[in-house]
Amino acid sequence: MLDLNAIKNSLEAKLNKLMDRATEIEDALSAPKNADSEERAVESEGDQTATAIGEITDAEIRDIKFALRRIETGEYSTCESCGKHIPVERLRALPWTSRCTACS
Ligand SMILES: [Zn+2]
Repeated sequence: MLDLNAIKNSLEAKLNKLMDRATEIEDALSAPKNADSEERAVESEGDQTATAIGEITDAEIRDIKFALRRIETGEYSTCESCGKHIPVERLRALPWTSRCTACS
């Protein structure tokens, strides 16, 4: 059996961490730029990395919010694509997944 409360708690904890990371990335991206042009080039590379990490973080936040909503609606262990039951082992390994192995 799945302990939905435990899953919810761990998803919420992960969500909080991701939100913190997203805020940090935003702060880093909006930080004032160095006036020196050479350093500015380095910073711009750092910005690209930060933007990429930010996009991954946003996607993870979306997935986790979606999983939490699916717990609320009782659809958590139902594949959103084929409607079949998602195996418990899969949900344990990937608690934010919304699809069964065949549909992922
Ligand atoms: Zn499926």
